[in-house]
Formats: sequence, C-alpha cells, structure tokens
Amino acid sequence: MESNDWIKAIAEGELKEGVPSAIEVEEKKVLLIRSEGRIYACGNECSHYHAPLSDGLVAGHVVTCPWHNARFDLRDGRLVAPPGLNGIPSYETRVEEGQVWIRQTGKGLIPMPEGEDDRTMLIVGAGAAGNAAAETLRREGFAGRIVMVTGEAYGPYDRTMLSKDLLSGEAPAKWLALRGQKFYDRLNIELMTEKPVTAVDPAARAVTFADGTTMSADRILLATGGKPRSLPVPGSDKGGCHLLRSRQDAEAILGELETAKTVVIVGASFIGLEVACSLRTREIEVHIVAPEDVPLTAVFGEQIGQRVKKTHEENGVIFHLGETVKELTGQERVSEVVLSGGDRLKADCVIIGVGIRPAVEFLEDSGLVKEGAVAVNGRLETSAQGIFAAGDIALVPDGRSGEPRRIEHWVEAGRQGMHAARCMLGAKESYREVPFFWSKQYGSSLRYIGYAPKFDQVVFRGSVTDKFFVAGFYLNGKLAAAASVGKARELIRLGQLLEAGKSLSPVQLKDPGFNLLSL
Ligand SMILES: Cc1cc2nc3c(=O)[nH]c(=O)nc-3n(C[C@H](O)[C@H](O)[C@H](O)COP(=O)(O)OP(=O)(O)OC[C@H]3O[C@@H](n4cnc5c(N)ncnc54)[C@H](O)[C@@H]3O)c2cc1C
Repeated sequence: MESNDWIKAIAEGELKEGVPSAIEVEEKKVLLIRSEGRIYACGNECSHYHAPLSDGLVAGHVVTCPWHNARFDLRDGRLVAPPGLNGIPSYETRVEEGQVWIRQTGKGLIPMPEGEDDRTMLIVGAGAAGNAAAETLRREGFAGRIVMVTGEAYGPYDRTMLSKDLLSGEAPAKWLALRGQKFYDRLNIELMTEKPVTAVDPAARAVTFADGTTMSADRILLATGGKPRSLPVPGSDKGGCHLLRSRQDAEAILGELETAKTVVIVGASFIGLEVACSLRTREIEVHIVAPEDVPLTAVFGEQIGQRVKKTHEENGVIFHLGETVKELTGQERVSEVVLSGGDRLKADCVIIGVGIRPAVEFLEDSGLVKEGAVAVNGRLETSAQGIFAAGDIALVPDGRSGEPRRIEHWVEAGRQGMHAARCMLGAKESYREVPFFWSKQYGSSLRYIGYAPKFDQVVFRGSVTDKFFVAGFYLNGKLAAAASVGKARELIRLGQLLEAGKSLSPVQLKDPGFNLLSL
C-alpha cells in the first residue's frame, strides 16, 4: 500500500463511540476508533511485543497497549510512553457515502533531525533508560552529538527476556537486541560498548572512563541501572553459582543448563520465580530457597502470593520456604546447598536472585549519591546542573505525593529516560508517570500499576484461583496500586485513575456491576 493511496476500510455504521475495531487491509493490521467526535486510524500492533492495540484502552486520542501499557498518539502514531520503541503507523481518515476510507501518512519511525546543534549529550548506560533517552533526543528533533556508553559488550537489549524466553529456550539470543547497529548509525547515535565510566566530575560536567580517557558534555544522563546482590555466605563464589543481571550472566547460565539436572534458586523474587518457570520448561529439577513463608506477599498480599506458589508447585517446583542458605559446599564447584534448618540440597548449579543495589560505585566521589542512589528533582536533574539520572539508580519524587521513590521496572526506566531526555533539551515539566511492571510465569502475565510499598487492604474483582482478576491495594481507604491477570483494560483504567490522583472505594472495585471502564 503506497502512502498516498486511499483504501476503503469499514462501513461507518460499524464504528461505535470508544469501541476499537481491528481490520486487516492489504496485509496491514489497522485499528479504527471513533473518539473525540472523529474517526482515528492507526497501526494495530504495539511496537514493543506486537500486542493488538485493539485489546487495549483508548482515552481521547491516546491508545494504551493491553500487555505492557505502552501508549501511542492516535493522531500521528507518535510514541507517548515506552516500552514501545518506534511509534505506530498513522493514517488519515475520511467518510464517503457511509464508508470510512484511510490513507497512510506515516510509519512511526524516528527521523534523523535536520539542522545543526553544537551541543553534546552523553548517556552513561545503555539499558532501558539510556536507550529511551537517546531515541527521545532524536524524536524531539535534537540534531547535535549523542554518545551512549555501556560497560557491557552488548548494545541495548531486552533485559526482561533474560529470565523468561531466553532461559526457557523459547527466544534465541538474536531477539534480545532492542535495535540493530544500522539504527544507531542512521540516527547518528554513537554507541560505545565495553566503555565503563569510573568517575564523574560534576563541576566540569565530565566523566572518566576505565581506559583513562575523559569526556565532557553539555548534558549528562546517568542511567547505570542495578548490580545484583550476592549471597553473603561461605561458598557463594564457587564455580556454578550465578547472579542474573546481564546478557553475559544469562549466557553463563545457559552454558550450565546444557548439563544441569538439578538447580537451586536462592530467592523467591520475580527473577527467581521466572527463572524457575524457564527451567521447568526444560524439565530441570528446581528448588527455591527463600526466607518468606509465601512468595511475593510484600508486593501482592497473601492471596496472590499463594496462587503464584501453587502454580509453581503444580509445575513441579519444590519450595524450601522459611529457610535461608547457610553455606554452599563442593570441591571446585558448588555441589550442595546447606540450609539454615540443616537440610542439604544437591545442586548442579545455583542461581541467586536476592535483589539489586543501584550501580553507583563510579559516583563515589561525585557527591551525587544519597542513601545508595542518585536523588533527582521532578525534572530528573541531580543536584549538579546539567546532570540527570533515570532508571534503577534514580530516587525520583513521586508525581503525586512528592515523596522520593526508587523503582526497579523496565517500563518505568524507559519512561524516566524519555522524560530526562526532554528535560535535557529544556523541558520544565515534572515526571508524573505511575509505575507499571509485569512478570510472566507459565504463560500468564501478572501486571501491576501504581506504587504501594505499604497497604492495609486488598480488594478483588474476579477470581485469583482462575487467574482472571483485578486487585486493588488500599492504604487508609485510598487506592494506591492495582494488579491483574487477564483484565487488561480494567487495570489500565485504574492506572489512569491513579495518574489523575483519584481513588475509588473498595465497594465499587469489588462490585462486578460497577463498570470500571465508565469511570
Ligand atoms: C533478568 C531480569 C528480568 C527482568 N524482568 C522484568 C520484567 O519482567 N518487568 C519489569 O518491569 N522489569 C524487569 N526487570 C527489571 C528491569 O530490567 C530494570 O528495571 C531495567 O532494566 C532498569 O533499566 P536501567 O536503564 O535503569 O538499567 P539497566 O537496564 O540495567 O541498564 C544499565 C546500563 O548501564 C550500564 N552500566 C552500568 N554501570 C556502568 C558504568 N560504570 N559505566 C558505563 N555503563 C555502565 C550497563 O552496562 C547497562 O548498559 C528485569 C531485570 C532482570 C535482570
């Protein structure tokens, strides 16, 4: 289909206000919707994981993806919020004799801006936040120099896939890269791998690299993510013990999985549980050791935690809960895990998933680190003018309460990276996004929106047992966060409510007769 061809798409009468229609014309998937008194058309595939946007939610001229909540502007296909990378195809529409016609106007790609700009933007870290920042700078029309450096051997890749489809064997390593080198060449983004930064001089707005070279820039973004915590017990440095943060870590684990028959996972964190699921797909015997009685209760409460546990047990995972690891033993490699209660578990390999700390060692002498993280203001700027921070290392004021919070989610990191880039170009708005994350285990996605480090009431609509529910997490009667399996639109709507600083009563949330989508 050429961009200037008008195509007959659908009978006008088939389009109901606010109800998306998915059609396929000339092998392209198109979403049509009547909203704001006009008819919008755009590509129907999310640019993140290709989810059908017609299963998402449209509010005004913005569509939110049902899977990981990327948002796109229906008017021009522009990416409004990650985890999408590109925008989506845009179309103009017209109605003639009761038929809606569409014509493609854009493909959703980021153009290389024209013109000149003598400023340099340096991005330290090529993860979710760093990559989103680099792309946003170009999307916003910045034509100057962009340098993005990473300590790793790889350019930006999908870290979330490491514990899921990569370890299960369902995704080959070549799917990990967010972009190919050609993309960075086209947008003239200078990507430097194996180039760790060892120090930052805020006054000079300059960094020193491990190879001794230095570089100054007009604006610097710090986005170095997290470092996995190791286990402070004897033997945790033995061969066969692995942490999981990087692609290199995952490759080392994949090497073990070629022969391992029994694996012990330490920590019932999201990563530990996802790894367990991936290893069960390979029919490896999996033991999980963790101090809590039920996994994930601190985040989701008892009922969802029990359901997660049961699902793992139904799939053969053996839990050792209420236990910690005393020691890892073995000759050259680990062969046994000794538990606090005295049990000894045989292990061909051990994977440790006990959380992360922000990767801020290189900032030790910079004065930018507070309580182990980098504090920023609403514009994501640190106490040093022109130096910004985003992602797992950043302590960001919450968009509604103003309380500092540090979030370790892929989507949040991308959104902070996007916002930081705009502020590096001069934007003055404060960051307002409501955090979102997901975890995929045994084919079902558990999604969460909001921020509820504490809650005193969990209210359900639907069935946790059947894995089809939305849950609200309340503190002092006010909705702070929501989670769901299967009810994507309701979850998005609750997120919009939280974004607007509103609540709804537990009674309304519980009542299936109360239409959440009409709020
Ligand atoms: C296995 C795994 C699965 C996950 N799954 C999910 C999920 O399903 N959902 C979810 O919401 N979140 C998930 N997360 C969390 C998510 O990946 C992180 O929150 C996100 O990657 C943070 O982005 P970031 O840009 O802050 O840091 P990162 O993505 O960690 O990127 C940091 C970058 O900085 C570089 N770097 C570090 N130190 C230096 C230095 N000194 N000099 C130069 N470069 C440096 C690193 O090499 C890297 O390029 C997962 C994390 C892991 C490890």
